[in-house]
Amino acid sequence: MRTAPSSSDARKAIALSGTEAAAEVTAEVARQMRESGVIPKLAVVLVGDDAASAVYVANKARQAERIGFGSLQIRLPAETSGAELSAVIRRLNDDPSVHGILVQLPLPPHLPAEAVIREIAPEKDVDGFHEVNVGRMTIQSSRNAFVPCTPLGCMHLIHRAIGHELKGLSAVVIGKSNIVGRPMATLLMHAECTVSVAHIHTRNIEQLCRTADILVVAAGSPGLVRGDWIKPGAVVIDVGINRIAGEAGTHRLAGDVAYDEAAEVASFITPVPGGVGPMTIAMLMKNTYAAALQAERANPRRHAGLRARSNG
Ligand code: NAD
Repeated sequence: MRTAPSSSDARKAIALSGTEAAAEVTAEVARQMRESGVIPKLAVVLVGDDAASAVYVANKARQAERIGFGSLQIRLPAETSGAELSAVIRRLNDDPSVHGILVQLPLPPHLPAEAVIREIAPEKDVDGFHEVNVGRMTIQSSRNAFVPCTPLGCMHLIHRAIGHELKGLSAVVIGKSNIVGRPMATLLMHAECTVSVAHIHTRNIEQLCRTADILVVAAGSPGLVRGDWIKPGAVVIDVGINRIAGEAGTHRLAGDVAYDEAAEVASFITPVPGGVGPMTIAMLMKNTYAAALQAERANPRRHAGLRARSNG
């Protein structure tokens, strides 16, 4: 745990580096993998030719390969039917060499994400979006649940900044999507924070934010949160990734928080890029390793070949 500047301290906030934290998480996964000899395999399915999705998928596959996972990229045309996509997912569900399955969102409009995610076997749903995993996480089931990677990464950064004791702190989450806002609020509640969730219809949002010891922003609205929305000394986690067009076809990435203003007031703040983004991929690696370990424990003989290969 680091020491946060006090609210009267004129220093700037400490930048919470997701790049650094993600490198530590993946190094730990690689270490555990070497020790156990269990080598996970991650299958990533991309439907259509959305440029941003293609970059995300390539980054995930590259990271998987870098730490020694098996990786499989399946690219399907935008006009793929629901039945065709289901058949691909069923094949991956039935393939014992695949431990994690991720279908990159958003899908083309004719493919309903909810129904597609329901097709993934919950024990291979390393994104944590399947309703079985959402349910288990929400009720803190004793059965293993995969927790969505972005909120998991945010929690890791919060703990890295101010330690594991969050009991009684006031937390505000802006955004209530199934992939970020809702699970984030749930995790903060599990940590015994007092949690408020704000969204596009929230009134007096600035005032609400000023009550937050921990402020997590996942709105997709560049520069939404200004410096004077932030409680002095707060921990600010900026999930937003917004592509801002520049001259001659260039672009830059910006978060949902006006960084320079916020850094004058907060104690810790995540930069964009280099904050939450790398953590999401690191947590995907962690979840995939956990999936492989669970599969191995459930059926050691089926996975013996994997271990033998890794040892040899
Ligand atoms: P979403 O569009 O599904 O949900 C956005 C939420 O923010 C909604 O609940 C909406 O009500 C709320 N919102 C939007 N504008 C608002 C405003 N002006 N004031 C208050 N609330 C507002 O988005 P999402 O999928 O949750 O993603 C949110 C942002 O996080 C996006 O910029 C996305 O690119 C980014 N993201 C980053 C990562 C990462 O790894 N860093 C992962 C997922 C999403």
